[in-house]
Amino acid sequence: MLEVALAQLDAVAERLALDPGIHKRLRQPQRSLIVSVPTLMDDGRLEVFTGFRVQHDLTLGPTKGGIRYHPGVNLGEVTALAMLMSWKCALIGLPYGGAKGGICCDATRMSQGELERMTRRYTSEILLVIGPDQDIPAPDLYTNEQTMAWMMDTYSMHRGITTPGVVTGKPLLLGGSLGRAEATGRGVYYVVKAAARDHDVPMKGARVVVQGFGNVGAVAAKLFYEEDCRVIAVSDSKGGIYNANGLNIAQVLAEDAEGGSVTQHRDGDRISNEEILELECDILIPAATEGQITRKNADRIRARIVAEGANGPTTPEADQILAAKGTTVIPDILANAGGVAVSYFEWVQDLQQYFWHEHQINERLSEVMISAYQRVVALSRKEQVDLRTAALMLAVKRVADGKRLRGLYP
Ligand code: GLU
Repeated sequence: MLEVALAQLDAVAERLALDPGIHKRLRQPQRSLIVSVPTLMDDGRLEVFTGFRVQHDLTLGPTKGGIRYHPGVNLGEVTALAMLMSWKCALIGLPYGGAKGGICCDATRMSQGELERMTRRYTSEILLVIGPDQDIPAPDLYTNEQTMAWMMDTYSMHRGITTPGVVTGKPLLLGGSLGRAEATGRGVYYVVKAAARDHDVPMKGARVVVQGFGNVGAVAAKLFYEEDCRVIAVSDSKGGIYNANGLNIAQVLAEDAEGGSVTQHRDGDRISNEEILELECDILIPAATEGQITRKNADRIRARIVAEGANGPTTPEADQILAAKGTTVIPDILANAGGVAVSYFEWVQDLQQYFWHEHQINERLSEVMISAYQRVVALSRKEQVDLRTAALMLAVKRVADGKRLRGLYP
């Protein structure tokens, strides 16, 4: 993943004729911290997990980015994701640099007690580098509001001051924001709607396929369903379901809330996570994890618009194949930026201790997403490049301009 992120940066640096010194600086994360996270397990054993927090770039403000709990977490992945966060924040104009963190663990096999102890120890190990004006974590894969509540509490207990602004994606009661839980999926929905209009795809009846039914996919599926699109297939880690006439997403969500899997839904045929990507549809949302559309299956993708709900779901080889076929790919740093956009709103509300109405949040989110989408489309037309290249050009230029203005210390 890091190789891909670096190759993308190198290509864009060349297009922008970036100053070689600034290019070199952007290739390296500014700070990387690796910590061991000793955790007492329920059976009395002691497990030592490895945790990371990487701050890619601090030019435009404090750093921002999620924390993931996943067996695939390693320094390269976290570094790549931190870099993506720098571009994502810059693209939508937030006053942040990018960061990412994570723990290599299988959260699905851990109890709440184990997760709490691990989260608290991890937080205390990275305490020196986080803070509301320093680096602000948020949820990502297999972390949620509860994880953020534990992180906020651990930080606050160490400092002796309740500090809601140290994390975003918290429960509402502890300084979270209305609309944050839905924000990433809602942002995907806003940009897809704009892209569908540009490509003359009517939303009513549009065939939508969503891979991944978590924070991003489930919300996006719900919003498309409510817009009278035909959501023909959805999946989670256990597999998917397909119904050419459209699934009743309200019902799938209700069943899912009872702790099941979308595969238990009766009114559709079982389909695998690989097959779901290859269904003929108007809109495909890969909202599960990275590396899903590769040179092996890109040729068989039959969607008109692909909107990357996940970070890094399409490999560069696949990008080229899709571009040659005329598929529009709305890149991750644009399509899924709604999460960090509302994280920013949450942080602003925490710092001001003044909270907004949900309609204000959604309106501002829509403004941020649509204006970024329009800037990306305009540049892609002007430069005759795909949307990912255009988005990266805008983002990298903004960070590079910031670096140039601040100069080199000492
Ligand atoms: N984890 C989310 C992302 O990848 C949100 C990060 C944030 O809100 O800081 O964009």
